[in-house]
Amino acid sequence: MAQMTDHGGGVRSIRVPIPDNPLGTTLVHVVDTDRGPVLIDTGWDDPASWDVLADGLTACGVSVAEVHGVVITHHHPDHHGLSGKVRDASGAWIAMHEADTAIVRRARESRPDRWFAYMADKLVASGAPEEHMTLLREARSARRPGTLPGFSPALPDREIVPGELLELPGRRLRAIWTPGHTPGHVCLHLEETHPAGLPGHGRLFSGDHLLPRITPHIGLYEDPDDATVADPLGDYLDSLERVGRLDPAEVLPAHQHAFTDAPGRVRELLAHHEDRLTDLLTLLSTPLTAWQLAERMEWNRPWDQIPFPSRNIALSEAEAHVRRLVKLGRAEAVTGSDPVTYVAL
Ligand SMILES: [Zn+2]
Ligand SMILES: [Zn+2]
Repeated sequence: MAQMTDHGGGVRSIRVPIPDNPLGTTLVHVVDTDRGPVLIDTGWDDPASWDVLADGLTACGVSVAEVHGVVITHHHPDHHGLSGKVRDASGAWIAMHEADTAIVRRARESRPDRWFAYMADKLVASGAPEEHMTLLREARSARRPGTLPGFSPALPDREIVPGELLELPGRRLRAIWTPGHTPGHVCLHLEETHPAGLPGHGRLFSGDHLLPRITPHIGLYEDPDDATVADPLGDYLDSLERVGRLDPAEVLPAHQHAFTDAPGRVRELLAHHEDRLTDLLTLLSTPLTAWQLAERMEWNRPWDQIPFPSRNIALSEAEAHVRRLVKLGRAEAVTGSDPVTYVAL
């Protein structure tokens, strides 16, 4: 059974499964244009997911071969995974923001030694304990070059330029740059009257930026080749305000379900992050390393039950929050500490 929903006005969505993932599915949106269907995201690269996407397109009255273009909200594999297969089957172009295209290019270069060396230095500097470093070394030796899974995401052939309309014959779809979840995340604003006449301005394809019931992961933009001190949480909060001001009539996210009242959801998320930053300041009344902070933060389960790879993600999220506090002048690094500790001001 194809999981297809018709949102009206030449927009449909297909629920494409993500194997072994609590998120369950990616919503691939299909936008009709005068030159054929354009997909917003494609879903996870897996044979079963591919079949669901193909069946869903059939249910939309089209075929994969007719796809005119693919617009990617961000490079994560649950969004960009099947893009290469869609392009192979149809000759469609693939568009992505240049900051995420740079990440795709690096992933394709696949230099695991450089990546592990970078991660090891970072973890030591964050105060990671020896047991965690041992797990990192084990993960590295389990993945010697040549034994890496064939992870080679498709290189996009078009750039999504912030603020500009995409070349979609017969449609008005504008790119809104919303960095935070990834440096090149974009939302796509369909600047057309809502088909059911809902109040507000058009419809927003929000990717992972704005979701109805979960907050996206905001961690550091880990890049061995970029020494810029980025502030992903600051980027994300600014991007939230940007899409709130658009006041779309309806939001079509890449997970869960469509929803209205984007400004209300933006306010909830801003309040959530403000509360979280306030909690962190309380924890930082005594100096802590980023690792110690991650151990003490609230997660969806106790720290000792969080497996090794998820701890890296949690640490990255803790560091993104500390960086925001430092940038706001609400915390600072303790001079001369090694590994570096942070304290509230
Ligand atoms: Zn994502
Ligand atoms: Zn996602």
